[in-house]
Amino acid sequence: MKNWSENIEWSPKEVAKPSSEAELQALIQAAVQGGRQVRIIGTGHSFEPLSVTDDLLINLDNWQGLIEVDEVEKTAVVKSGTKLNLLGQLLYDKGLAQENLGDIDQQSIAGSISTGTHGTGTAFGNLSTQVIGMRFVNGKGEIVDCSINDKTDLFKAMQISLGSMGVITQLKLQLVDAYKLELVKDKSTLDEILNQLDSLNANNRNFEFYWLPYTNVVQTKTTNIGKGLVDKSGIGTYFDEVVMENWVFKLFCDAAKMRPSLNTSLNGFLAKFISHQKKTKYSHQVYATPRYVKFNEMEYNVPLEAYKDVMKDLVKCVEKNKFNIHFPVENRFVKQDDIYLSPAYKRDSAYIAAHVYKGKEYKKYFDALEEIYIAYDGRPHWGKMHTRRADYFSKVYPKWNDFLKHRNEQDPEGLFLSPYLKDVFALRQTQGA
Ligand SMILES: Cc1cc2nc3c(=O)[nH]c(=O)nc-3n(C[C@H](O)[C@H](O)[C@H](O)COP(=O)(O)OP(=O)(O)OC[C@H]3O[C@@H](n4cnc5c(N)ncnc54)[C@H](O)[C@@H]3O)c2cc1C
Repeated sequence: MKNWSENIEWSPKEVAKPSSEAELQALIQAAVQGGRQVRIIGTGHSFEPLSVTDDLLINLDNWQGLIEVDEVEKTAVVKSGTKLNLLGQLLYDKGLAQENLGDIDQQSIAGSISTGTHGTGTAFGNLSTQVIGMRFVNGKGEIVDCSINDKTDLFKAMQISLGSMGVITQLKLQLVDAYKLELVKDKSTLDEILNQLDSLNANNRNFEFYWLPYTNVVQTKTTNIGKGLVDKSGIGTYFDEVVMENWVFKLFCDAAKMRPSLNTSLNGFLAKFISHQKKTKYSHQVYATPRYVKFNEMEYNVPLEAYKDVMKDLVKCVEKNKFNIHFPVENRFVKQDDIYLSPAYKRDSAYIAAHVYKGKEYKKYFDALEEIYIAYDGRPHWGKMHTRRADYFSKVYPKWNDFLKHRNEQDPEGLFLSPYLKDVFALRQTQGA
């Protein structure tokens, strides 16, 4: 097995692909009886070894689709293995949509919510906030239901739980009517964006930007409700999003990998290609862009009010250290929530994501950035690279111990605890070590 970025490889003894809840429950009950260790995989798009096991890996690719739709309440119960791109199409067919999404749509719905996957937009929480109920098979082999109204504390622990409490089988989502989005990409400067950040966030439904290291140039991306006709021709979009942002960009990445001296000058050149672009389509066809160029990634959540200071420190750090990097740094903005392990727990947030082309050294860069984020009580994205463990998490997550209490109740024997998760939760001494 390999994850998307191919920075992690592992060999489970068995990969099971159940196609019903009953089959899944029987698998877990047999695993409990046999004293086995179980991990779950969505689409393998996480950069941390969340699905690594040398025993039983559960894959829910055969468990996809809608179970129930309520068009009046605008809710749907979905199978947990459903990929976001399939989900978008199935909901659109019913006249419904998710209110917000991230950059790609390859992940499974359960995999994406389990790490707190998010998009951008200060009026929207991460994807886990769209979940209003769920069903899972816990570490005792029992089927458990919880929701915003029933076993609420357990639900808040489950909403982002890294597959450490059980296998989610069904998710009930709060949706909205299908809507069109007009996406506009443009060029600006970092100074201008930092000066106007509050109004850019207030005046656009979704705002984000990419800073090109070693320049003052940024590419902005705004989406607002689309009122015009849906764009039919995909040629311009294909050229920009596939040819330029993937294949041409990859040629530059390879050149900079071979000649490190190019790293600090490349973006000045690439900046010339950023142009004004616009498209209107239904939402599920707008949020996601194809990502064919592989990279490693670290992303941290910082309090929104500290964001500008963090970004200024980051720019200074990059310019001082002249890291061999050129990938744009992505900046997004997310509304607070009350999910125990949500990086946006009780604070409006900014997310800063740094990427390094696959095969290039990233540690010095990521270590330096992490030091900055930690100084501002940063919380790492659970699916992306970080070096934090329980001693740190217990300080930045007020509900850390409540989460662990629920985790231990649902999985007392540590069925879902891999060595990595024991390390993250500091449960090595107490749980099935
Ligand atoms: C190219 C790329 C772009 C990305 N863009 C974004 C973005 O825009 N925003 C963002 O926030 N993140 C982004 N990510 C990160 C990604 O969304 C998360 O890592 C997400 O968790 C991956 O989903 P997955 O289906 O691949 O899950 P996996 O990585 O396979 O698993 C993630 C976690 O979910 C658990 N899990 C999976 N299924 C279940 C289940 N049924 N029950 C219980 N636990 C389960 C796994 O055990 C694991 O702990 C991106 C990653 C890549 C590679």
